[in-house]
Amino acid sequence: MPLDSKVPGGPLAEKWDRHRFELKLVNPANKRKFDIIVVGTGLAGGSASASLAELGYNVKTFCIQDSPRRAHSIAAQGGINASKNYTNEGDSIWRLFYDTIKGGDFRAREANVYRLAQISNNIIDQCVAQGIPFARDYGGLLANRSFGGAQVARTFYARGQTGQQLLLGAYSALMRQVAAGKVQMYPRREMLDLVVKNGQARGIVVRNLVSGEIERHAAHAVVLCTGGYGNVFFLSTNAMASNVSANYKCYKKGAFFANPCFTQIHPTCIPVHGTYQSKLTLMSESLRNDGRVWVPRNPGDKRSPGRIPEAERDYFLERKYPSFGNLVPRDVASRNTKEQCDEGKGVGETGLAVYLDLADAIRRDGKDAVAKKYGNLFQMYEKITGEDPYETPMMIFPAVHYTMGGLWVDYNLMSTIDGLFVLGEANFSDHGANRLGASALMQGLADGYFVIPYTIGGYLAGRSFSEVNADHQVFKDTARQAQERLRKLLSINGQRTVDDFHRQLGLIMWDYCGMTRNNQGLKKAGTMIQQLREEFWENVAVPGTDKDFNQSLERAGRVADFMEFAELMIVDTLDRQESCGGHFNEAYQTEENEAKRDDENYGHVSTWEYTGRDKDPDFHKEPLIFENVELTTRSYK
Ligand SMILES: Cc1cc2nc3c(=O)[nH]c(=O)nc-3n(C[C@H](O)[C@H](O)[C@H](O)COP(=O)(O)OP(=O)(O)OC[C@H]3O[C@@H](n4cnc5c(N)ncnc54)[C@H](O)[C@@H]3O)c2cc1C
Repeated sequence: MPLDSKVPGGPLAEKWDRHRFELKLVNPANKRKFDIIVVGTGLAGGSASASLAELGYNVKTFCIQDSPRRAHSIAAQGGINASKNYTNEGDSIWRLFYDTIKGGDFRAREANVYRLAQISNNIIDQCVAQGIPFARDYGGLLANRSFGGAQVARTFYARGQTGQQLLLGAYSALMRQVAAGKVQMYPRREMLDLVVKNGQARGIVVRNLVSGEIERHAAHAVVLCTGGYGNVFFLSTNAMASNVSANYKCYKKGAFFANPCFTQIHPTCIPVHGTYQSKLTLMSESLRNDGRVWVPRNPGDKRSPGRIPEAERDYFLERKYPSFGNLVPRDVASRNTKEQCDEGKGVGETGLAVYLDLADAIRRDGKDAVAKKYGNLFQMYEKITGEDPYETPMMIFPAVHYTMGGLWVDYNLMSTIDGLFVLGEANFSDHGANRLGASALMQGLADGYFVIPYTIGGYLAGRSFSEVNADHQVFKDTARQAQERLRKLLSINGQRTVDDFHRQLGLIMWDYCGMTRNNQGLKKAGTMIQQLREEFWENVAVPGTDKDFNQSLERAGRVADFMEFAELMIVDTLDRQESCGGHFNEAYQTEENEAKRDDENYGHVSTWEYTGRDKDPDFHKEPLIFENVELTTRSYK
């Protein structure tokens, strides 16, 4: 099937304006005739629901959590990018576009990334109008700090709680529409499947997580904002409920999955400290503004950090990348950290950590100034590790953090299923093979506040819709299949817990499909996952019933999907015989151990089409055409 990205013609800077003009409109009186389902209430789903309801559509919004404002987005710490250039450092829409496309190792669509950079400034205006308490400088202008992969400070922030503040803004806008009767809010609901009728997405089937009831909901379009799939690795910085299920169910219904192998490993997380740990904690990239990353110069040096003199320390990022220093992009910082640990220079009990040291900043600016910027992060670190980072450097190690892959979408954010739109981390669209820090919040809000309000109108105005309601047979069949799957999970009565399977799956993925990959390991992992999946369906223990609140059952469904999805990740990883961004195949590296791209053979988006149980997926590609930037080898030296 040819993939039509629907990128409009004309000069890059004019595409979005022109497209908005050319898109068909739904007149205000007709908007109330359309029902739209939004799944997810993170920054993408919250902003989309509020904006669509404000326009006059009837919106039904669903989320797993008890309150929409508990979506994973609330955990975002460091900030959100925009090219306001308040500081006169030379930022511009073009520079933000270029940094993002280069940061993604030239594996994203030019037109989408440019639009993102254009919209970035509107987001900040909208959020300020909502009352988001961004940090300000002494003159009252919004303050900026630096994030990786950029030489200008363009990250807007609210201490280390930017996601929380932005989500409260989106949540307020959403609840305003709930009060106005334009959004019906369904918390504690999990989407179990998509309903497709005549090739159009026409609704969803959900489970009420409190009563266990299976519900059917119909609409004219479905907007999926269900976040990323990092928890396929079991341990990640994602919220515990983050999952791939909604995306995966849509994949099985015909939505193509794009670049599932593109995973981001974040360099600065609190290292794993025990076998039974279920969650990892991020230490925001913002700390690398002032923090210096180092290891002892000599392998095996076990002295405490304070006893290692300057001359015997290796600030390896500053040494290797003098231009960007500690602010190289995440993939580069993560791989270098692993390299240091592999050479025996890792610190801490396990040797799987490096120091992130703010001592120079504390000496230079004083403890109060540092506490103002990073106080809550320091507090979090101390609570988890028992060590005071004002006194001793933090220990950090890379961890799974974000997924650049997702459902394939065209320029309108529509998937390969008509009427199924995908926003935020759930789509593949803007970050290529590596996302730059502070760009996920920007993308989620761009999609929700500024893109979908236009593009969904173009879809609704241009289509005819058959009369379908939730009592239609297609809804009943989908609901029955979802219920049967739950009963099957409950009937197995095996010996191993869901978490036990999930942990094992995560270890396989981390060992063979993590920070570095090789073909032999990937093939081995494919077989191991298949065996694990078979065992899961014979030996998983899911207590309780489906007629009640049952978190084991919820998790079992999600882990079952992760298992199938992990196999797809392996297929995609093996298919991409190059290294780019966060995808590092050991066979493809430069003499300096950097990722070696193959633009001729892999300068495309890889997408996969589901063909049936235990069958290989079909491959389709969207060639990436670069008309405005020159493809270069990424260098941060
Ligand atoms: C610790 C941490 C810090 C971060 N800091 C930053 C930062 O500083 N800057 C930045 O740009 N990015 C940051 N990120 C990344 C960023 O937070 C996420 O990419 C972004 O918030 C994702 O938003 P989203 O709306 O796409 O999805 P989410 O916020 O993940 O929301 C997903 C929603 O979908 C719902 N959902 C999922 N599945 C189902 C289902 N089957 N049925 C019903 N509902 C479902 C959930 O309930 C939830 O409401 C950070 C990430 C982490 C983990």
